[in-house]
Amino acid sequence: MTGHDHSHDHSHAHPDDHGALGEMDLRVRALETVLTQKGYIDPAALDTLIDTYQTRIGPRNGARVVARAWVDPAFREWLLADATAAIASLGYTGRQGEHMVAVENTGDLHHMVVCTLCSCYPWPVLGLPPTWYKSAPYRSRVVKDPRGVLADFGVTLPEATRIRVWDSTAEVRYLVIPQRPAGTEGLGEDELAALVSRDSMIGTRLVDAPVPEGSPA
Ligand code: FE
Repeated sequence: MTGHDHSHDHSHAHPDDHGALGEMDLRVRALETVLTQKGYIDPAALDTLIDTYQTRIGPRNGARVVARAWVDPAFREWLLADATAAIASLGYTGRQGEHMVAVENTGDLHHMVVCTLCSCYPWPVLGLPPTWYKSAPYRSRVVKDPRGVLADFGVTLPEATRIRVWDSTAEVRYLVIPQRPAGTEGLGEDELAALVSRDSMIGTRLVDAPVPEGSPA
C-alpha cells in the first residue's frame, strides 16, 4: 500500500470550486487537449463517462443497497463482510468502487466518511461527490471535530454515541449504512430506499422516520 494515490482521474468530477478557472482545471484542460491531439483519448468517450456519473449513476444506487441490507439479514451480513461483492450483486460496479467497505451505524457507534487529501468517493453507489465533501473545511474539520460538523448538518447524537471517521483513499471507499428509523416496520424495500439520502450514506445525516400523510410539516 503506497498511501494516497492521486492518479485516479476524478479531476472532471470537480466543477471548479474557486470560481473562474482554477489551476487544476487549467491543467486538466491542457492535458485533455494534448492527449486528444496525440490520439490517446476520445473527447466523446470522456463526455459519455462524465455524463454517466453525473446523471445516470447516483445515490439512489446506494439507497437500494441500504434498503436491501435493512430487509435482508443475509445480504446485510454479506455487505459487512464483502461490500464490493454484495454491492456488485445488485449491479453496481465500476470505477472508484472496486474496493468497497460498508460500515453500519448503531446507537453506540456512528460512522462518517471523508477523503482528507482530495475527494475519493464511491462513485458506483453515490455518484459524484457533493461540493462540501470536497471542501477543505469539511476535510480538515471532520477529523478533529466530527460532532461540530454533524451539528452544522443539523445532527445531534447522544453523548454516549461514539463517532468513527473513515478516511477514503484510492484503494478503499466507504459506504455508511445508516440506522433504520423506527416506525418503518411495515415499509417495503422501495419505500425504505426512498427514505435514504445521499448524506446519510456519508454519515452527515440520519435517516428520519417517514412523516405520516396529512400531518403538519
Ligand atoms: Fe481523494
